Amino acid sequence: MSSPVIRLGALALVLVLAACGQRGSREVRTEGGLPVGQGGQGLGGTCAGQQSFLIGSGIHDITGPAAEVGMMGYVELAQQTAGIHQRLRSRAFVIASPCNGKRVVFVSADLGMVFQGVKQQVVRRLKATFGPLYSDENVLLSATHTHSGPGGYSHYALYNLSTFGFEPKNFEAIVQGIYQSIVRAHEHLAPGRITLAAGDLLEASRNRSLEAYRLNPPEERARYAYDTDKRMTLLRFTKDSGAEVGLINWFAVHTTSMGQAHQYISGDNKGYASYLFEKSRGTRYDATGDTFVAAFAQSNEGDVTPNIFGGEDGGGRDDFESTAISGRKQYERAASLYASATTPLSGGVDYRHVFVKMDDVEVQPVFTGGTPAHTCPAAFGISMLSGAEDGPGVGGGEGATCAAIHDVWSAFTCTTTTTRCQAEKPIALEMGSMQPFPWSPEVLPLQLVTLGNVALVAVPFELTTMAGRRLRETVRARLESAGVTEVIIAGLANAYSGYVATREEYARQDYEGASTHFGPWTLAALQQEFDALARALREGSSVPPGPTPRDLSHQQSRLRPGVLFDDKPLWTGFGGVFSDARETYARGEAVRVTFWGGHPKNDPRLQGTFLRVQRREGLFWKDVAYDWDWETKYTWRRSYCLPTLACSHVVIEWAIPPDAAPGSYRIVHEGDWKSGWDGRVRSYQGTSRTFTVK
Ligand SMILES: [Zn+2]
Repeated sequence: MSSPVIRLGALALVLVLAACGQRGSREVRTEGGLPVGQGGQGLGGTCAGQQSFLIGSGIHDITGPAAEVGMMGYVELAQQTAGIHQRLRSRAFVIASPCNGKRVVFVSADLGMVFQGVKQQVVRRLKATFGPLYSDENVLLSATHTHSGPGGYSHYALYNLSTFGFEPKNFEAIVQGIYQSIVRAHEHLAPGRITLAAGDLLEASRNRSLEAYRLNPPEERARYAYDTDKRMTLLRFTKDSGAEVGLINWFAVHTTSMGQAHQYISGDNKGYASYLFEKSRGTRYDATGDTFVAAFAQSNEGDVTPNIFGGEDGGGRDDFESTAISGRKQYERAASLYASATTPLSGGVDYRHVFVKMDDVEVQPVFTGGTPAHTCPAAFGISMLSGAEDGPGVGGGEGATCAAIHDVWSAFTCTTTTTRCQAEKPIALEMGSMQPFPWSPEVLPLQLVTLGNVALVAVPFELTTMAGRRLRETVRARLESAGVTEVIIAGLANAYSGYVATREEYARQDYEGASTHFGPWTLAALQQEFDALARALREGSSVPPGPTPRDLSHQQSRLRPGVLFDDKPLWTGFGGVFSDARETYARGEAVRVTFWGGHPKNDPRLQGTFLRVQRREGLFWKDVAYDWDWETKYTWRRSYCLPTLACSHVVIEWAIPPDAAPGSYRIVHEGDWKSGWDGRVRSYQGTSRTFTVK
């Protein structure tokens, strides 16, 4: 019999899969407007031809505990946070149309997923502050899908296994950070315009599941120049005062340039692209005022990898460089689109939202190609254990069998049998039938938003390239006559429940098909439901809300304790220097200072920093870099000191930029320690020697 911990460990391996890591690993191999339709209100009504909106943006830190929390994405147990390379941010936009009084919130957050519990809490807090102004219906929360943030913020078991349960501090950092970003966007609302540009970005993405893609009909594939969507669509927000508010762009690519061997919190390629754009505009991350916000949002990236050279190879010498390469490509394309975005959005703001019990949808023949069909209880397939085609899974790569994975996964049902409903999928785990609650959600939000002539199709899934195209076409067919010219998939939105492959791709049961929880007709069910939403939006009619998703916020347990206390050797204080900087450095070299510190779980220093690189200017020290800057790294590690073994080393690294001004510098570390005597958390600061950069 295996111990509970081993069982958890084994299941967590599976989770990699569930949560979609797509790279191989060394130890645990996983995948890882506007004419109005006759009689309808449509996009026009009183808003036809209107080009003025109220717009506002806001940004807030959502970086959770930077040490000893399992990371969300690859779900490799050994991958626990141990520092910060980039801080995670929530980027929010409020867009209102004066012509009809409607408004929506769009958020892109540096997260693996936005789980249902997060949306529920954010909307609850918005309602407490603003009354009925914001609701499930008009708030769209999407994730960039970085795989390098702390986990444990779902209310469903499947997604909390690698973190040994719920992590309340991380959940709170995420919920409160998203809420604060929306409050700011709300407070910054002012009249303005939204302009659009779109264009291809080549050599930044590749289809990682080509053999499944090729099962789609040849005549359908022939309509597209590429096997992934290369189009980046960008909205530019400018106030009538001339102030630049920011931008949102959508480009489909996995945010997995950082692999599962590292332990730094990172926004990955999209986080870096946002950082580059915001840096170029002087964004103030620590301020409450209006500041430029650049959101690089996710789309139908289900089968799309940034590792364009295959496997884990993104073209860099290491993950950091691969992340930088992918991020810079996205940034540069966005910068050129931003400069050329002159086509104004026209029409009003509108939205429709419905909760659908995704495991119980009768799909009409018109969406299945002839026969009625039904969706299935959530389950993932054994083939998911093989991993995606750019990384073998725990089952030993393509063609994994039950027997091959049984060694690592004996505690759970693994069969080669399926159900009639799941068709080609040999079921590894049926989350939908777990007691007392399913292990993944089945009542899921589907949301359609129009910003003038642009429609956003918000799905709580990762859609493959072709699945995204088909869903866009369904919506376009309904809304084109009402003036919609752009239909965009907003992926990983409002909740999360795996992938959606096309029926043809599903038959192959590669990673994406095996991760399509609700069976072969999931996409058809989505097309049917979004067709109804689009029709209602065009006709100006309402849709029934659907069943209410369960609230599991009071059912969370935590298997791992928080910080008990921090300790340090007798001869030094918290913030004392363990190993100091050298006296002089050349530009291009790296400075490294180690401090005796406290555990970052004591306080995540939201909107703050664990480090400052400072340059002397006359009598003063001026900050030149923080813990979110690309050239710095904050690393935490446990250090054994007598008698308590509760000491921490904090390593601060600064890669001196080639253009750094020569002069005197120092490294400052700020942190918090918890007393074993009174349990209080106190701040401390440590400072390196002054060193010279020549
Ligand atoms: Zn994914």
